[in-house]
Amino acid sequence: MQTEFGKVVEETTYIVETPTCTMCGKGGTVEVPMKGFLIRQLGGAIQDAYPEMDKALREQMITGTHPSCWEVMTAGWQE
Ligand SMILES: [Zn+2]
Repeated sequence: MQTEFGKVVEETTYIVETPTCTMCGKGGTVEVPMKGFLIRQLGGAIQDAYPEMDKALREQMITGTHPSCWEVMTAGWQE
């Protein structure tokens, strides 16, 4: 059953500020679904909160490293 509150949660997104990126020294933001944000607030794991989100963006929310900076950082790791 879809409640009015459930509908609002489905349609609302939230801007999360991410930690300072160790590569470029800047912070950042990631837009997330309100539902996932609430799961995180209740202590849920990030992969449960945002199962469909790009892994790079989840990484940014945890470590602050931007997807583009992550690419630069990991470019040298590949053989
Ligand atoms: Zn960065």
